[in-house]
Amino acid sequence: MNVECPRCREGERLTKLRQPVRFTFGQVVLGILGGAIGGLFWALGQENKYECGQCQSIFFSHTRVSRFFWILSVLTYVCIGLILLYGIIVSTR
Ligand SMILES: [Zn+2]
Repeated sequence: MNVECPRCREGERLTKLRQPVRFTFGQVVLGILGGAIGGLFWALGQENKYECGQCQSIFFSHTRVSRFFWILSVLTYVCIGLILLYGIIVSTR
């Protein structure tokens, strides 16, 4: 886990704060469009919240896992977008 404090560069004494998964309207729409898989990837790909034990600052950072899922969710939505676009092109011909 290569997370470090953006203010004091502390990399050891960090507390990972539990962050409730919040769904915005846009995410709900994307979730419906992408089905459960895209929505799940998106939720797993959210940035994690950390508190620094040295300077008490709170910051957000991606871990390797959350970045991986974030990329997966983007790829899922790009595929869905292409499929929809293909459907529109085929149906208007
Ligand atoms: Zn710090």
